[in-house]
Amino acid sequence: MQLRYPIDLTIEEYNEQKAWEHAELDHCPFHPEGGCDLARHGTYPRKFPEYCLVPRWYCPSAHKTISLLPDFLASRFPGTLDEIEQAVNTAGSCKSQEEAAFV
Ligand SMILES: [Zn+2]
Repeated sequence: MQLRYPIDLTIEEYNEQKAWEHAELDHCPFHPEGGCDLARHGTYPRKFPEYCLVPRWYCPSAHKTISLLPDFLASRFPGTLDEIEQAVNTAGSCKSQEEAAFV
């Protein structure tokens, strides 16, 4: 499961500050009442648009990992939210998909 890591940092600032080390998951999304021994489970790397680490937790009761995806990365897409928004805006302002592809 991926949750938002609501931070107002660029990817460069995130890496400089090692912000994944400061990420906190207050409670398990599967067991909000607690008691499931939710624990830090290291990090996993994202390689695009720049290398960065995503903090991860593990719930032994649900047998699931939970990661906190920083706001500048878009869930399930390899780029940043800015890049996706730019593509959407370009597509919206062009007369055809063909024109948008060459902008
Ligand atoms: Zn849990």
